[in-house]
Amino acid sequence: MNKPIKQHLIDPEICIRCYTCEMTCPVEAIHHDDNNVIVDAEACDFCMDCIPVCPTGSIDEWRVVTTPYSMDDQYSWDELPDQEDLGADEAATSVEALDDSVAQLLAEAHKGAGGKAKAPATAAKPSVNMYNLGKPATARVQGNYGLTRDPDHDVHHIILDLGATPFPVLEGQSIGVIPPGTDENGNPHLPRLYSISSPRDGERPNFNNISLTVKREQNGLCSNYVCDLKPGDEVRITGPFGATFLMPDDPQARLLMICTGTGSAPMRAFTMRRQRSAGGKSGGMTMFFGARTPETLPYFGPLKKVPQDLLDQHLVYSRVEGQPREYVQDRIVQEQDKVADLLLDPKTHIYICGLRGMEEGVDLAFGSIAESLGQQWTTLRDAMREEGRYHVETY
Ligand code: NAP
Repeated sequence: MNKPIKQHLIDPEICIRCYTCEMTCPVEAIHHDDNNVIVDAEACDFCMDCIPVCPTGSIDEWRVVTTPYSMDDQYSWDELPDQEDLGADEAATSVEALDDSVAQLLAEAHKGAGGKAKAPATAAKPSVNMYNLGKPATARVQGNYGLTRDPDHDVHHIILDLGATPFPVLEGQSIGVIPPGTDENGNPHLPRLYSISSPRDGERPNFNNISLTVKREQNGLCSNYVCDLKPGDEVRITGPFGATFLMPDDPQARLLMICTGTGSAPMRAFTMRRQRSAGGKSGGMTMFFGARTPETLPYFGPLKKVPQDLLDQHLVYSRVEGQPREYVQDRIVQEQDKVADLLLDPKTHIYICGLRGMEEGVDLAFGSIAESLGQQWTTLRDAMREEGRYHVETY
């Protein structure tokens, strides 16, 4: 029998096909086909560069194997195989069985990263990866509305009609949009990933449609394509993706949502779901939402109409003339009593979405609040993550 080795794998159920790991891998060990993103066991040198950049933690999968899974094996998977029984003792099948230097790199890569995500225990089961590059779904643009009043920060609300195409989604999931045309090598463009900003029963209740929140990026191939779409245009989409950044189906769960800019998309979906399903009788939602100015804060107008007992809103701005810069993490510290109460409640679920840069600041803010409660934030965070109550999606 071959000596067991540790193999690096990607969980196809959780992966949202953003291809960030593939673009990051310095030794080109990560590849994709129409269906999956996979790791070539022969090329992977365990450098761990791909671990912290993954928005979902789907990259952080390891198996001890006697014969590594081939690339073809991995392309064919809908879910990860269980750890095979090697008859060895527990330790031999644990990540700690990696040699010391690799284990240390892995521990380093986990610092501050979203870590291995778990869905809330009561979340509905999501459908994932129904449509892929080889077999995309076609949606028709129903509406395209400018959300911001700043030409330098052009954010659009796009409504896509799926017609008779089955495309079941849950709040917190994403879809891929395939920009038309080909890249410089003549290959079709890879889909770009966007969070869905509408709830499961449709942007308009009981219509088979979804909405996206998209910011026009300078020279952005897909964002310009999407922001310029006209009603009636056809769009090729993939997905749905994401199996962990989901809402608990418990109306008494308390949601603590932290977002910047277009990272507000899933929070809008959560809020609409709560509004439609539980109304004011829910456990409540608290949101810390950061934007440059009120003019660039997506959904500023509609948010103002959401009742305070459903959604406790903290809108913070970093570039309002004459005012000091404020980030979400500053306001979290300022609202420390409220946040402490949430952190201590086992019914609280935390969601963080938006700029990668905010993750560290938010982590520090929670750290200082946890410390004031005599708790260690990393311990509390890891326990919450394990219980499916701590969710990060930043990129
Ligand atoms: P933005 O306008 O550039 O930034 C929003 C706010 O965040 C600004 O007030 C900005 O302040 C502030 N900010 C910058 N650095 C920060 C930090 N380290 N900590 C806390 N706040 C910080 O946002 P955007 O252009 O809409 O971009 C949103 C980001 O979310 C994009 O990177 C997008 O890819 C990501 N996103 C992720 C998902 C997802 O993971 N599912 C979904 C949608 C969007 P200043 O610029 O004034 O410093």
